[in-house]
Amino acid sequence: MVFDQETEAGVVECGAGEKMGNDDQSKGDPEWGYWLNFSPRDGEVVQQFCGVNDIAGADCPNCGRPLVRVMSLDGQDERLNLDPERHAVVHLLYCWTCGIPYQEFAYRMKRDGSVELLRVAPRMPGVELGPEGPYEGYTGVFPAQRVSLEAISTEGQRKLKARHAGEAVEDHGGLFDLHHQVGGYPVILNPQLRYCPVCDEEMPLLAAICNEAAGNDPVGVRDEDTFVGNCGVQMVFNFCRKCSVVSAYHSSD
Ligand SMILES: [Zn+2]
Ligand SMILES: [Zn+2]
Repeated sequence: MVFDQETEAGVVECGAGEKMGNDDQSKGDPEWGYWLNFSPRDGEVVQQFCGVNDIAGADCPNCGRPLVRVMSLDGQDERLNLDPERHAVVHLLYCWTCGIPYQEFAYRMKRDGSVELLRVAPRMPGVELGPEGPYEGYTGVFPAQRVSLEAISTEGQRKLKARHAGEAVEDHGGLFDLHHQVGGYPVILNPQLRYCPVCDEEMPLLAAICNEAAGNDPVGVRDEDTFVGNCGVQMVFNFCRKCSVVSAYHSSD
């Protein structure tokens, strides 16, 4: 399933250009896509990528430890279409050491920034990776980094949207390689539609986060600077604004 490919840095082809279109990926909210800039400029709204998870309610009940803090989106960034009153922050959380990657995982974001878990798969001995995690030395905690949202170009957005719609689009310059992306129409290798466990409505895509836990560059990365040591793996987060619910799943090639 998740870890069935060669994972030595540089061996695996991380592109995704051959896969065209799908009906299984909700459009993003925000609809415009943003990549992450790990060197924010003065005056930009800074978002937090990774970091220690000290978020109330955000512990994995299976593993007895904090969930992986993947990213925390600040509702003050107007481009995210969040209501800063209700969604001051939306945390992107996951767990790789129990059954969570294999079933629906959903949680509610509360106004105070704490988390209430709604759907959590049980332990799955024999399938799950267990406490050792996906590679030797895995900790599940990655250094916090300051990032900002970098709007995808008009041409890039057009091409990603066209690809999502199933049109044949030429990819020049790695546009269709996996990227960390907030909103829009990110390339997801095996996308799924997600429905809100509270209101049953289709949930718009909020973010797709790929394997790199230390930046954007997938080349020559040490395992410990990755989430799972497999550059074909992504974590995908959908968000129901009405119910303040995040649903997360993983995609792999
Ligand atoms: Zn867990
Ligand atoms: Zn809902």
